[in-house]
Amino acid sequence: MSSTRPAIPEGIKRQVRQKCFFGCVICGMPFYEYEHIEEYAQVKEHTVENIILLCPNHHASKTTHKLSKERLIYAKNNPFNGSKEHTSAYKIEPSSNLEIKIGTNTCIGWDISRIKDHHVFFINGESYFTLHADEDGWLTVSLKITDPQGEVLLKFTKGELTVNTNIFDFSYEGNRILIRDKDSKKIILDVRIADNIVAISYAYFMHQGNDGFMVENGTLYTIGDQTIIGMDTGSLYSHNYHGAWGLLNIRKYPNIKKPGGFGSFITCS
Ligand SMILES: [Zn+2]
Repeated sequence: MSSTRPAIPEGIKRQVRQKCFFGCVICGMPFYEYEHIEEYAQVKEHTVENIILLCPNHHASKTTHKLSKERLIYAKNNPFNGSKEHTSAYKIEPSSNLEIKIGTNTCIGWDISRIKDHHVFFINGESYFTLHADEDGWLTVSLKITDPQGEVLLKFTKGELTVNTNIFDFSYEGNRILIRDKDSKKIILDVRIADNIVAISYAYFMHQGNDGFMVENGTLYTIGDQTIIGMDTGSLYSHNYHGAWGLLNIRKYPNIKKPGGFGSFITCS
């Protein structure tokens, strides 16, 4: 007989994530481990009722008996994120070298001596993806990824990740984030994020569900007035002064001035 503990089934893990609102039940952080309230060695089964999400800090607090079972059971029934619109933050550390992959497109070599904020995606005057450099040259990202209708699913604010608690499913395993759609259950966000890379395989960056960018199967699509008006594969953008991809719907926003210094800037009307 094998003494190996079987893995927690994916379906149970998803239900646990949903019940815990995608974060540690104590502090809400969206970087977590699955933990049995009653030890697996005792119960010898994986059930949704007995498993919670704990961040590494609160996991260690439990393991070292600083966090009581009573409090864990209370937190399971009253998870920190349950009454919040988004999770608490998880911070990705800054890096001196950051590679950005958008499908098969690459952005590298930002000239941070001249300008500190570079806009990877700039839509109707608003940045959906910014690379920030601090005084010492350390780089962080701000990122706003939406669903096709423009509802924000997750945000990075200078490296701090927060997730919308009203979504169907979010997982962050290894350095890969996946979000699934409520109705279709299909993946609508697939991104790898670490301190030195942001690699986007599938995502929407939509302004009011009308104008924006979509990444799918290696291609970056530019969408204007809900119509595909541009496609990019294999592009390499480096040392662009202001940013990489810009989009402006001049019919809806006639007063926004088109900024210069983008690798690609499309206007639609
Ligand atoms: Zn915690």
